[in-house]
Amino acid sequence: MIHEILPVGPLQCNCSIVGDETTREAMVIDPGDEINEIQALLRKHNLRVKQIVITHAHIDHVGGAMKLRAATGAPILLNQNDYALLKMLDVQAAWLGMKSPGRVEIDQNIGQADVVKAGSLQGQVIHTPGHTEGSICIYFPLEKKLIAGDTLFAGSIGRTDLPGGSLEKIMESLHNQVLALPEETVVIPGHGPTTTIGEERETNPYLQK
Ligand SMILES: [Zn+2]
Repeated sequence: MIHEILPVGPLQCNCSIVGDETTREAMVIDPGDEINEIQALLRKHNLRVKQIVITHAHIDHVGGAMKLRAATGAPILLNQNDYALLKMLDVQAAWLGMKSPGRVEIDQNIGQADVVKAGSLQGQVIHTPGHTEGSICIYFPLEKKLIAGDTLFAGSIGRTDLPGGSLEKIMESLHNQVLALPEETVVIPGHGPTTTIGEERETNPYLQK
């Protein structure tokens, strides 16, 4: 598995490029910004993008998706529970004092138990509402990796005070879905350093019973 993690944009959203070493097919998860840098990494590894996967419809995760789609022809995938939030990108941009990326079109809805693919790589979609209604995590069981979006961070959890957020739902998602994964699973959060499920189960102050 080729895996590049590139923090993009003013909020340094972790964009993941995941590629199959044999077929050179790839998926890009959360291309929030800096599409030129993302494309440079794709060229460096000789990868072709087959899918653009969005963990949730916050501007720092989805802002560059249309530009990447235009450059690659790959479809954009998002859970339908975040379509309303996606229509508020102008409002989100105003909150952050950022330029609006314009309208983002979704090509395909993805939800619980769907599989995203790049060559032989398979990522299982886990619906983890709480940070937003349509938040998802992508779990690669063979590689033991979890792309967690803004649901789980090293030592913290996603904020739930924005529209569509729910503390009750994020706790349910974390305890019933995310922490149920094997402890050796490497977690790539939407922002900040990587961690593991075991580490967070033991030390994350928000997850202690
Ligand atoms: Zn977010």
